[in-house]
Amino acid sequence: MSQSSAPLPASSDVVVVGGGVVGASIACWLKAFLGFEGSVTVIERDPSYARASTALSASGLRQQFSTPVSIALSRYGAEVLRAAPDLFAVDGPGPDLNFREDGYLMLAATPSQEAAVRANHAVQAAAGADVALLTPEEIAARWPHLRTDDLRLGAFGTRGEGWFDNMGLLTAVSRLARAQGARFVTDEAAGFEMQGDRVTGVRLASGARIGCGAAVLAAGPRSGAAARWAGIELPVGPRKRTIFVFDCATPPDPATRPPLMIDPTGVFCRPEGRYFLAGAPPVEDPEVALDDFDPRHEEFEEIVWPALAERSEAFEAIRLQRFWAGHYEWNAFDRNGVVGPHPDVANLVFATGFSGHGLQHAAGVARGVGEWLIHGEYRSLDLSPLGWARLLENRPLIETEII
Ligand SMILES: Cc1cc2nc3c(=O)[nH]c(=O)nc-3n(C[C@H](O)[C@H](O)[C@H](O)COP(=O)(O)OP(=O)(O)OC[C@H]3O[C@@H](n4cnc5c(N)ncnc54)[C@H](O)[C@@H]3O)c2cc1C
Repeated sequence: MSQSSAPLPASSDVVVVGGGVVGASIACWLKAFLGFEGSVTVIERDPSYARASTALSASGLRQQFSTPVSIALSRYGAEVLRAAPDLFAVDGPGPDLNFREDGYLMLAATPSQEAAVRANHAVQAAAGADVALLTPEEIAARWPHLRTDDLRLGAFGTRGEGWFDNMGLLTAVSRLARAQGARFVTDEAAGFEMQGDRVTGVRLASGARIGCGAAVLAAGPRSGAAARWAGIELPVGPRKRTIFVFDCATPPDPATRPPLMIDPTGVFCRPEGRYFLAGAPPVEDPEVALDDFDPRHEEFEEIVWPALAERSEAFEAIRLQRFWAGHYEWNAFDRNGVVGPHPDVANLVFATGFSGHGLQHAAGVARGVGEWLIHGEYRSLDLSPLGWARLLENRPLIETEII
């Protein structure tokens, strides 16, 4: 996806740094859904999005989180995906984002995994999530080719979980934002101009600058570096994840092939057309260089394939078709997004650090950030649990359900 750059205005009421799914959604919600009458400019350094997390994502949406705010964000994300053809209409219907609500199946094999699944299920049920607990016998009856003798429990999302078209969502929100007057400028933000406790402008790598009433930091894995322009230490940086696409010599019957399955080893796998898409939790997970996208090919041979072959005969004879690496915008403090203003810089609003679940939460975050920019408060879903207070007061909101 590459669009021509709009001319740079001298100033804009809101300047968004980063035009990935989060930044573009914020522009879209402000201009198309929340009635913001001011000007919105998105600064994007690479409109091909070749290395954006949004483009390299596994594109899943689930309700199986351990924190109520994440569950609520996912539930809103699912509503938005279902309504995409109406919501994102520009000169005719919006796109079908191909939301396959086939569910996530989390498998637990040890007592501690079972306890975690049960505890998270209680949180999910209280938040209205459509997640069912399944015994090993129920799992075997539904997906007969899965080995279940080592399992203690499964949790399966019966609605509002699945996968969708990541770039379709980015295109849809960007297109509607543009149609409603948001400007997307190709340039790299290189610094903030500050006066007292306010950001008054954004300096660009081209040498230009743009004045702003408020700035939004939605720079994905580059957000930690950008926060330092305002003297703020944001514990968000790039962590590498490799995705593998394979096909099976003897694929499982489509009627009983598993949905998005998370094996007790942490390996995940889901169907993608006639292929499967899979990945593994990293053995070591250092922050990597911003330009390091070398896939960790060895994870396939050493972790992904052995775990899947152990789980199902269908995965014994598989052939790797393609693979790529992308960056999670990892919040090392508690693996949850950092959303909202910092108390020291009141008009710099953060929307980053989603640690592997930002695509599915982009719509809800955009709605909340838009409300905050317009009204100075959240009006629909309270996103203050994701605010800076928890970082500054050392009260982590740990997300345990990280894939
Ligand atoms: C392998 C992988 C699998 C994933 N799977 C899932 C999943 O299944 N479900 C899910 O919900 N999430 C998933 N994620 C996470 C999800 O993709 C991200 O959370 C989400 O895309 C973050 O969007 P973003 O807009 O914040 O970041 P990005 O998509 O990275 O966009 C940030 C943009 O900011 C631009 N930018 C950065 N710095 C500057 C600057 N100084 N000036 C101008 N522009 C700048 C970049 O060029 C980029 O386009 C996955 C991520 C990866 C890597």
